[in-house]
Amino acid sequence: MKIIMLGAPGAGKGTHAKGIVEAYKIPAISTGDIFRQNIKEGTELGKKAKSYMDAGDLVPDDLVCDLVVDRIGKDDAKDGFILDGFPRTIPQAEALTKALEAKGTAIDYALDIEMSDDAIIERMGGRRVCAGCGATYHVVNVPPKKEGICDKCGGNLELRKDDDPETVKKRLDVYHEQTAPLIDYYKKQGVLREIDGTLGIEGVSKAIKEILG
Ligand code: AMP
Repeated sequence: MKIIMLGAPGAGKGTHAKGIVEAYKIPAISTGDIFRQNIKEGTELGKKAKSYMDAGDLVPDDLVCDLVVDRIGKDDAKDGFILDGFPRTIPQAEALTKALEAKGTAIDYALDIEMSDDAIIERMGGRRVCAGCGATYHVVNVPPKKEGICDKCGGNLELRKDDDPETVKKRLDVYHEQTAPLIDYYKKQGVLREIDGTLGIEGVSKAIKEILG
């Protein structure tokens, strides 16, 4: 099963991608996580991506497309994958369609988690990420057992640099301008499924299970 998670930043793509990984045993591939890992390791890719990310801009397509096409060609993705945060522009979607077509395959589902900008801004302010393992929390919706500390690895929980209110607004503008057109792109391919992102984690998980079967 080949799945794309659509939806604005903060709509819950990552959280639900992880849920699908457990239920369907296919890898989740998050381009944001790949970039953050590269920044942490100080790689060339990380150095190139950092300034764009910190400003709330998209990393240029040429730094993203080959990386994803390469990743979905790996052995663990042969039975399917979930893409979280890719594609984010029409040229990225076209590159993905082309790469899959070359293998005689295509995306099965594009899951669009819908939320208003106001709800996103409110949610992002409470989001926290573990500096150690990258696990995500929310001060109200998904609190850790001990405030500020990761349940999984004991690392410190931090507000992501690009989750500050100004950068979130910028990321939402970028989303509406460059990423939202993908909704129509996948509707035309007949694979778009829309989910109400305000249903809460359980409600959205249930809706996803009903769609994927
Ligand atoms: P995310 O964790 O998916 O919200 O991604 C964090 C940041 O990484 C984004 O705001 C972009 O700067 C960058 N990024 C992640 N995925 C992509 C992509 N597919 N295309 C361009 N930039 C991306």
